[in-house]
Amino acid sequence: MGLNFSRRFAKLPPYPFAEIDRKKKKAIAEGKDVISFGVGDPDQPTPKHIVEAAKAALDNPKFHHYPFDAGLADFRKAVAKWMDSRFHVSLNPDTQIRACIGSKDGISHAHLALVNPGDIVLMPNPGYPVYFTSTVFTDGKPYALPLKDKNGFLPDLDAVPASILKKTKILFLNSPSNPTAAVADEAFFAKAIRLAKKYKFVILHDAAYSEIYFGKPPISFLSVPGAADVGVEYHSFSKTYNMTGWRLGWFCGNAEIVSALGKTKENFDSGAFEAVQMAGVAALNGPQTCVSDMRQLYKERRDLLCGGLEKLGWKLSVPEASFYVWVQTPKGYSSVETVEKLIEEASLVTIPGSALGKHGEGYIRFALTVPKERIAAALERLAKILW
Ligand SMILES: *Cc1c(COP(=O)(O)O)cnc(C)c1O
Repeated sequence: MGLNFSRRFAKLPPYPFAEIDRKKKKAIAEGKDVISFGVGDPDQPTPKHIVEAAKAALDNPKFHHYPFDAGLADFRKAVAKWMDSRFHVSLNPDTQIRACIGSKDGISHAHLALVNPGDIVLMPNPGYPVYFTSTVFTDGKPYALPLKDKNGFLPDLDAVPASILKKTKILFLNSPSNPTAAVADEAFFAKAIRLAKKYKFVILHDAAYSEIYFGKPPISFLSVPGAADVGVEYHSFSKTYNMTGWRLGWFCGNAEIVSALGKTKENFDSGAFEAVQMAGVAALNGPQTCVSDMRQLYKERRDLLCGGLEKLGWKLSVPEASFYVWVQTPKGYSSVETVEKLIEEASLVTIPGSALGKHGEGYIRFALTVPKERIAAALERLAKILW
């Protein structure tokens, strides 16, 4: 048709996981027994009591309407209670909490309320692609914070020049990190908050993996003094309760930012389906044994995969949180070369670190969303590859 797409649209890189998915489908079409450590989508079902709560809500006509608003009062109250019991963070459910259609929705629309053309948005690199693409969509300038082994895979905030910080509108943080699994401590968040106050920018903290940990529970950004003056935190049901398909999350923290993000979203969608919000209420208020069982499951998989990879000579640091293993590529192979060799010679799908940002070059990412028997099979195949 020869359409002239918008300049912003033309600047979008292909969504990296879509590329991987195409390669995976091709191998499957060729009849190969593919084992996928690719996209971070839990393989386990949503816990039964959550599904049952949604079924009951489906039968109730009062939940059949436009949701509008900040989310059901019951939903926001459940979030406030959970944030308090899990993190000792006290929030006003009326002004500081808002439901969103998965945290991706909340993250990707934040820019519209905050970013003017040319404003700088700081983001971890490698990182979740949405921070970058939504910056491009608002003509903001993405500025990469490299995640390096020597800094424990956390952004080195001291390395950002003052000239950049002066033009910064948003600092994205993500702890536990996808893809490096790094976890930020109080001192790290405190430094970020100091900078945000000094240079007057907003901190958006993506806490999608806060409940997937194997040692000390990660802290909330909002538990650090001053955080609610400068930022908000995004939470998601996707990973914690195996609910990726349901599209439910929330953002919370600074009331002014929460309200602005809410106003932006009102113009794009009309809120998360209330029956789905009721599933969220059941998840947060219900027994949390499903979450500890999930942690145990991922821990066993982590130990099997990391132990096996290390035995084969791969270099990695064993993750303490998230369900990702961030592994160095074999000497002489780029991220993409490594991933392609794994698909072609062993029908194993992984993500090239470089697809998550240029500073991810030299690494590949395994997601622990694969049962143990399949991890064992994958390790057998890996042992046969010659590098
Ligand atoms: C999976 C993931 C999310 C969650 O997205 P939802 O839209 O809530 O499903 C957010 N951030 C990161 C870094 C993720 O990996």
